[in-house]
Amino acid sequence: MHDVEPYRALPGLTTPWTVANVDVDLKGQRVVVRVDAGPGPYPCPTCGTPAPRYDSKPRRWRHLDTMQFTTWIEAEVPRVECGTHGVKQIRVPWAEPGSQFTALFERLAIDLRGSLPPGIAFSVHSADIDSFLPASLLLVLFLHQPGN
Ligand SMILES: [Zn+2]
Repeated sequence: MHDVEPYRALPGLTTPWTVANVDVDLKGQRVVVRVDAGPGPYPCPTCGTPAPRYDSKPRRWRHLDTMQFTTWIEAEVPRVECGTHGVKQIRVPWAEPGSQFTALFERLAIDLRGSLPPGIAFSVHSADIDSFLPASLLLVLFLHQPGN
């Protein structure tokens, strides 16, 4: 458990989401930020009508590095039971539905993809995201491009 204060400003972390705790793994050079949506009710992702929590599912997203550590956001994402639309998982403000990456991480990867040297290719939807290039390495590759 580490100080959560610096992580309260994570982009996209808006009401009702709050930082529950932060785990820093010095040996593994990994930061896990656990966020929580509170008790609800939450807006139905289809119609916006407030609806009660039905259940929740664990999810995690690769975020931009912090302190050069790979950084993950983890959450139990609630599903609501809307009277009109049935059981739906609520949207999280920091990532697109179904993505394993935060919107900021995807934006960086997409911005840099066209700038990588030939032969170095990657996908922002790689199945093996644990070995995904650290964002800092992507930036180094970008900065060593001729003309940069
Ligand atoms: Zn609805």
